Amino acid sequence: MKSHYRVVVIGGGIVGTSILYHLTRRGWSEVALIERAELTAGSTWHAAAGFHALNDDPNIAALQSYTINLYKEIEKESGQSVGMHMPGGYSLATTQARWEWLKAECAIYQTLGIGARLATAEEIVADCPIVDPTGLLGGLFDPHEGAVDPHGTTHAFALAARKRGADVILRNRVTALHALSNGQWRLETEQGTVTAEHVVNAAGLWARRVGRMVGLDLPLTPMQHHYLITEDLPSLVARPDEMPCVTDLEGFTYLQQERKGVLLGVYERNPKHWQTEGAEWDFGMDLLPEDIERISPELAIGFERFPSLLEAGIRKWVNGAFTFTPDGNPLVGPIPGLRNHWAACGCMSGFSQGGAIGLVLANWIVDGDPGADIFGMDVARYGAFASNDRYLRETTAQFYARRFVIAYPNEELPAGRPLKMTPSYDAQRAAGARFGVVWGMESPQFYAPGEPEFADEPSLRRSNAHRFIAAEVAATRQAAGLLDTGVYGRYEVSGPGAERWLDRLLANRLPALGRMRLAPMLAPNGKLMGDLTVTRLGPERFWLVGSYYLQEWHLRWFHDHMPDTGVRIENLSESWLGFSLSGPRARDILAGLTRTDVSNAALPFMGACTMDVGLSRAVVARVSLTGELGYEITVRASEQRALWEALMAAGTPLGMRPIGMRAQDSLRLEKGYGVWSLEFAQSYTAAMAGLERYIAFDKGEFIGRDAALAERASGPKQRLVLLSVESDDADVTGFEPVLAGDRRVGFVTSGAYGHHVRQSLALAYVDEELAREPEPLSVDVLGISREARILAEPPYDPRGLNVRA
Ligand SMILES: Cc1cc2nc3c(=O)[nH]c(=O)nc-3n(C[C@H](O)[C@H](O)[C@H](O)COP(=O)(O)OP(=O)(O)OC[C@H]3O[C@@H](n4cnc5c(N)ncnc54)[C@H](O)[C@@H]3O)c2cc1C
Repeated sequence: MKSHYRVVVIGGGIVGTSILYHLTRRGWSEVALIERAELTAGSTWHAAAGFHALNDDPNIAALQSYTINLYKEIEKESGQSVGMHMPGGYSLATTQARWEWLKAECAIYQTLGIGARLATAEEIVADCPIVDPTGLLGGLFDPHEGAVDPHGTTHAFALAARKRGADVILRNRVTALHALSNGQWRLETEQGTVTAEHVVNAAGLWARRVGRMVGLDLPLTPMQHHYLITEDLPSLVARPDEMPCVTDLEGFTYLQQERKGVLLGVYERNPKHWQTEGAEWDFGMDLLPEDIERISPELAIGFERFPSLLEAGIRKWVNGAFTFTPDGNPLVGPIPGLRNHWAACGCMSGFSQGGAIGLVLANWIVDGDPGADIFGMDVARYGAFASNDRYLRETTAQFYARRFVIAYPNEELPAGRPLKMTPSYDAQRAAGARFGVVWGMESPQFYAPGEPEFADEPSLRRSNAHRFIAAEVAATRQAAGLLDTGVYGRYEVSGPGAERWLDRLLANRLPALGRMRLAPMLAPNGKLMGDLTVTRLGPERFWLVGSYYLQEWHLRWFHDHMPDTGVRIENLSESWLGFSLSGPRARDILAGLTRTDVSNAALPFMGACTMDVGLSRAVVARVSLTGELGYEITVRASEQRALWEALMAAGTPLGMRPIGMRAQDSLRLEKGYGVWSLEFAQSYTAAMAGLERYIAFDKGEFIGRDAALAERASGPKQRLVLLSVESDDADVTGFEPVLAGDRRVGFVTSGAYGHHVRQSLALAYVDEELAREPEPLSVDVLGISREARILAEPPYDPRGLNVRA
């Protein structure tokens, strides 16, 4: 071990070795991996090591494909076999809903370029005769499914990295980490002290403990997982080729051929945590005692689906632990608030994702950018609330138990709730609100007034809550709707230099005093980093408003680009709350609650000021996402309940209704407005997203200007368009392919039924030529091709007269 490295990776599992390898591939050879015991000594050695490209998040699916394609490459480079088998795999459908879901998923995988296809029950049984066909409707075949040898693969990464100059130091536990004033780290290890410019926590089962060394409480925790391996099965002994893998989605089991027997793994509905704080330091390469009784309900279903397993003996039981996060995705990237300290942990799918984590982390360390939209894996997608012991246990158990369960678009899951509530929560509940959750915050989805027994049935089609949403949309278009804005993120930027700094951070010109502007925030490569609104409340005092769940992510970006002057950023997201009031009667309602002149002349569109509203002193911004005359009224959190009372009392007699996020979606799509994470994300540029008109190219230097200028010269390859879709009972949800004849020309970003315009609507990215010269299109809705056409203008108030009224 040398005394100094550019990067030290803590942990020699599949993730740590992949990071080491990718760093060397980027030309960094002064790098080392320090491993407590032997390579693979955490979760890695006893993994079933199955892999697949399919993932609900298309960005992660693309990275999983990268991981799979890498295996042959590292085998060649290292000379170490990775033991790769890729016979493909079937996901089984044994209910109508699942079959429909798989058809929809299959269409989405086309968007991703993953060559998945549907298979009939007969095809599946012909290919995998050990599958009992009872109730089998069909399945989805993913050709990229298979397994590797976990030992060989980890060693292949390490060997390839060593060949490129990296050091691998074994039997050497890192015992302490100290941040140095120059931004570097001093690591105390069993073999001595070493300094490093960057430290990566890839400590797997021990990652929470390594996090504690620097005062972190990472939201991950180990859970137990079982699989069994059978003796040889005669049908497989007789077979020359390898049987595809099989996942019985309704049966909670997955199966892959293991020599001439099979490996059957179980995701039980009654999961169990193990050492929530992480394994003990001296935990060896040991298995946990098997707990067959706990998993027996799912095993019984497994033996029904694969009856020949009952005849074969069980050669081996494995019960091991690996780490889970609340959403099942890993924690990757720079830790907010710590310099040069990186997370690469919480990975439950090391053999589908390990290569990708190595790639993006190495890019991020070397270039300052991960090179892909990896928000779904980003450590900054969580806040401190997610590390609470009970929250973590409930959400990880929910994820584990639902690993194969259909996630319906209208389904709200119960774990870790209610945690955060705005002060009007009880009043909204009493008014019939049904809540969803955003970053721990309860957020009304719709109101079912006077129907306490009403339950929103999980459905892939329009749900039985449709009529409530229709009523909320109608109220907003005819009178007014009142939406809780507790799921907005708010930041105050102030102090000398605030204007100069924001002018560099945001691509638009800053507004004048008392005005607001939409302001895209760009990365140096021109990709979107935010779709903020900026309001000037004083000469050097601004409010930025974005999405609530992006707080850690945005604050990390702000602080990374912070000048050393007196600029202050205060996160107001929890301390200031409010409502969006919009609709033709919105002004009348507001006027009844304030003595301030709120006429169009005094408070025009995109104007903002402080005024008394009811009993509160509020910041009122003249803007809306519904396409109606609207005001965002924001007060101190403790006064939000009083504001609710005041607005309800003033608005109800004028026809106002409280509305939820689903009505908001319908309303915004009628105007063709995009939102973050769907239409606007790190994968897209401002030009693609139609936000280029909010870039002030002539204002001088700002982050991302050169890239945005270059794109303006060349033009984007795809553009965001609004589609009308001929679908009468279901709407698109996202990533469905858009086709012109047989040609795939784009993909959907979001969709909803436009209740006022009575059309199924979708926003989609399509090839630039189509955006200019529309052709008849089709979109897959639940796997069925539906006619679609590009709308040249939004179907509701195309000239935008209402918002300016
Ligand atoms: C039964 C079972 C079945 C599984 N099946 C699959 C599957 O089919 N497909 C799949 O993709 N995944 C599967 N997994 C999950 C997979 O094993 C994990 O996703 C993966 O191994 C995580 O790798 P890692 O490198 O993050 O962590 P780990 O493998 O836990 O490695 C962390 C390493 O860090 C070292 N370390 C920790 N602290 C220190 C320190 N202070 N100093 C130095 N070194 C330290 C540890 O010794 C360890 O070697 C399975 C896991 C189990 C247990």
